[in-house]
Amino acid sequence: MNKKMIACALGLIVAASVAGCGQEEQTAQVVQNTTQEQQAVAANATVASSTAANVLQNTTQTETQTQVTTQAGNVTSKGYKIEEIDGITYVDGVLIVNKTYSLPAGYGPGKILDEVQAAFNQMQQAAAREGLNIYISSGFRSYNTQNALYNRYVSQDGQAKADTYSARPGHSEHQSGWCFDLNTIDDSFSLTPESAWLEKHAQEYGFIIRYPKGKEAITGYQYESWHLRYLGVDLATKIYQSGLTMEEYYGITSQYAD
Ligand SMILES: [Zn+2]
Repeated sequence: MNKKMIACALGLIVAASVAGCGQEEQTAQVVQNTTQEQQAVAANATVASSTAANVLQNTTQTETQTQVTTQAGNVTSKGYKIEEIDGITYVDGVLIVNKTYSLPAGYGPGKILDEVQAAFNQMQQAAAREGLNIYISSGFRSYNTQNALYNRYVSQDGQAKADTYSARPGHSEHQSGWCFDLNTIDDSFSLTPESAWLEKHAQEYGFIIRYPKGKEAITGYQYESWHLRYLGVDLATKIYQSGLTMEEYYGITSQYAD
């Protein structure tokens, strides 16, 4: 099995095991000194499940989109068109998921989108030519998976703390298939040459570091050197060169309603 296959299988296993049964107790005991997100990924990676594909199929929706519920002409504070189609928010045609904008519970491609995976493969090869090793450690997560993760973090740390590092169900970008976490999902990743390389080059492959350092109040999340969002080379390069977060670039908020 090559690395890509392992990464893919890991995503499937995590989704199935967390959503499907009570692995939480084991998870809490297995891994120490890592971020909460890494605990779940690392522990669940050991749990094989032949039902993974079936679970994901059941959570995958068709991409038929017909119901536009926001009237044309609505714009963000920066003047970008914002519309909601079948419960999904698009700004200037780009799918947005953050604390303000959620995805419907049943929505999800079931895996990282092919376009995103292909761009990652290119980036991975480029990094390898520099002697660097990057790999996907968490990709797609369903609504149910996120629900289980978030509830565990709330019970561990309380809701206020959990909200700084874990999305509420429906509010995780991982449910969209447009993002992934790389390597060790931990603050220590920011100190690696891989992270330094990504900070300089990710946009060349269509990715941005979605939750940059010092922007916690704007994105709603602590710095996550490992979480990359795919936007395509043109848009990712524009946002990178602007020095802005996605929220600032588009003029949108990231705050829960309650
Ligand atoms: Zn992430």
